[in-house]
Amino acid sequence: MRIGAHVDSAEPLVEAAARGADAVQFFLTDPQGYKSPKPREDAEQLRASEVDIYVHAPYIVNVASPNNRIRIPSRKLLVAHAKAAAEIGAKGLIVHGGHVGSGADLADGFANWRKAFEYAEKEGGLPLPILIENTAGGDNACARRFDDLARLWDAVGGFGAGFCLDTCHAFAGGEDLTGIVDRLKSITGRIDLIHANDSKGGFDSGQDRHDNLGSGKIDPELVVAAIRAAGAPAIVETPGGADGQSADIALLRERAGG
Ligand SMILES: [Zn+2]
Repeated sequence: MRIGAHVDSAEPLVEAAARGADAVQFFLTDPQGYKSPKPREDAEQLRASEVDIYVHAPYIVNVASPNNRIRIPSRKLLVAHAKAAAEIGAKGLIVHGGHVGSGADLADGFANWRKAFEYAEKEGGLPLPILIENTAGGDNACARRFDDLARLWDAVGGFGAGFCLDTCHAFAGGEDLTGIVDRLKSITGRIDLIHANDSKGGFDSGQDRHDNLGSGKIDPELVVAAIRAAGAPAIVETPGGADGQSADIALLRERAGG
């Protein structure tokens, strides 16, 4: 069982070693900006490393948006980040499910997701799996409620989209963690990665506020059970730097048996 952490992008392998992590996730650019990623000097080392690499797309990427000044650059960024992530040997590019904003029709958001994959195919295809992540909130979100996720999957499942389950987002988004893997697999058919986070916000609060395992509102056994049931690698996106994340990784290794 591969367990790792979201880390600073400057020296991901050093950060992995400091946490005893088998996997790391990081951003290639400022997560709030529209910059395209530049080639990394450590690409060779990252590719050769035993540590599994995951890249998280910027938060501002929202391919579902009805606003073309957000949607079009988001599409382009998604493809640019996918190419750059593949160059460093990443196993997947994680991107949030996005949202259409209040008053808009979610059906347009799902159609826009489909168009994003069609655009990527025209641009030469995606060189690694895109892992769509469930979100805690967002105005009219595509991947908060699982009945909406099912409609999203009708639009993108055929393109080979992967799924990343964030336990904080599911709980804060109002989805019960008990039996969640079976419910998800009946929708997506797959769970490629788990973001193993506790939640500072309460159930269905819509708040995206991660906490260390056992410190927030989620019973850590439910996070462990989800990892076991999914049989997927896990990344903690928790606070406290190397110390806080090392403790979370140790807890998961001990209880999920990895
Ligand atoms: Zn996450």
